[in-house]
Amino acid sequence: MTQTGWNFHNSYTKLPEELFTRMVPAKVPSPHVVLFNEKLAKELHLPHSVKNQQELAGIWSGNIIPPGTDPIAQAYSGHQFGYYTVLGDGRAIVLGEHIDPEGNRFDIQFKGSGRTPYSRRGDGKATLISMLREYLISEAMHALGIPGSRSLAVVETGEKVERETTHRGAVLTRVASSHIRVGTFEYAREYLSPAAFTRFTEYVIERHCTDAKNTGIPALRLLKTVMERQASLVSQWMRVGFIHGVMNTDNTGIAGETFDYGPCAFMNAYDPDTVFSSIDHYGRYAFGNQPAVMHWNLGVLAGALLPLIHSDEQTAVGLVKETLDRFPGLFEEKWTEMMRAKLGLEQQEPGDKQLAEQLLHWMHRNRSDYTNTFLLLRQSVLNGTTVSNDTEFLEWEKRWTERRSKEGLSPELTAARMRSANPAVIPRNHLVEQVLKAAAFENNLLPLNELLNALSHPYQDDQGIEGFQEPPAGFDAHYKTYCGT
Ligand code: AMP
Ligand code: MG
Repeated sequence: MTQTGWNFHNSYTKLPEELFTRMVPAKVPSPHVVLFNEKLAKELHLPHSVKNQQELAGIWSGNIIPPGTDPIAQAYSGHQFGYYTVLGDGRAIVLGEHIDPEGNRFDIQFKGSGRTPYSRRGDGKATLISMLREYLISEAMHALGIPGSRSLAVVETGEKVERETTHRGAVLTRVASSHIRVGTFEYAREYLSPAAFTRFTEYVIERHCTDAKNTGIPALRLLKTVMERQASLVSQWMRVGFIHGVMNTDNTGIAGETFDYGPCAFMNAYDPDTVFSSIDHYGRYAFGNQPAVMHWNLGVLAGALLPLIHSDEQTAVGLVKETLDRFPGLFEEKWTEMMRAKLGLEQQEPGDKQLAEQLLHWMHRNRSDYTNTFLLLRQSVLNGTTVSNDTEFLEWEKRWTERRSKEGLSPELTAARMRSANPAVIPRNHLVEQVLKAAAFENNLLPLNELLNALSHPYQDDQGIEGFQEPPAGFDAHYKTYCGT
């Protein structure tokens, strides 16, 4: 094993102690590696040799603690479906902060590594199937070019985990630029002294928003930066049909990365009301509601930051309101830019947003597959075929063709632009379930690895990917996803 890699420099554990609890991951009886992301380990300069599987399993299960770590469970609160709760890492432990050769800092976190003081009634464990799911989807999102936590390893523990049935237990190692969330600010504001809260905020600014340091009101700049990152992130989710599923404030990161891939899923037929999460009864986190929810979550962040914005509360409220009120416009800008890219357009023209909306309206009415329709549109640019003979579509196509002519690009160049915005493969829900069941219940990792491979280059529509492109029969009308399993 290459031992040169470990480079832990832990900063979070120097913060006020209310923010975390030092915790050693629970030992597991017989760890073995199910998935290991050798490429990511290499990129991060972490030990990556797969020759000694036993050592690898020992490390990435938490049985062997590498040098320089200072493992903690982090405290945080969160608004879950709109209601405030004190939470914290109930089944996660941040091993430490690793610095890669470029100087980037990453939290190395275990998920499913035992009970912590924040576990409430949970067992602190995770099932193999749900950890494989997070690995698969987070790596797919990375390949799609969307910021998010990464997955380094899934190690089966040899323990049984009781859920509705008995499951195989596992530990996932995830890597993220931090796990500081809107909910961490909520917690810090409630439980820290004003001085300690200021110190925490300064730390976050230093770690995630250094530009804010020399501005008039750094906390306001932090809010603006998080807002920009999240507007961009949500628009990118919507580019590929991603539904996060549980956009509680504890799952909204300050760094602007997607994380907590619990009940997330991908939309097939275009419908902004699409919801897959079994507990999202009112569609709070539906595909089309994601920008509005993010706006709401940013309001919670703003509320926590108020005392650092201005000593006079009314003035502070006025300042954050002015900032937050810009979110809808900012999101619209990002969204329109994203849709332009999907349609092969680059220049800004006044009717672009409407053009995109008209297409989506037709797709909704027609129950068109979101991913494949854009692939068909790209093909139509290249070979002059039409996607549909429906009158509404043909009228739209005429407008799109006229609009494209303003760009003055050849069909080949337009198609090349469209290729980089429109994935040929996404993790289709029915395929995700199939490969996960084969892996977790039949001990067959082959389908999972094949899907991972196809998803590792999602914009190349090479031969042989057709099997991954078909939407499920009935567009998975009854598909359900679950949190925290
Ligand atoms: P999530 O839905 O993954 O964002 O988790 C929400 C909260 O539930 C967090 O505080 C988690 O740490 C906690 N949690 C989820 N699953 C478990 C579990 N098996 N044991 C203890 N806490 C858990
Ligand atoms: Mg969470």
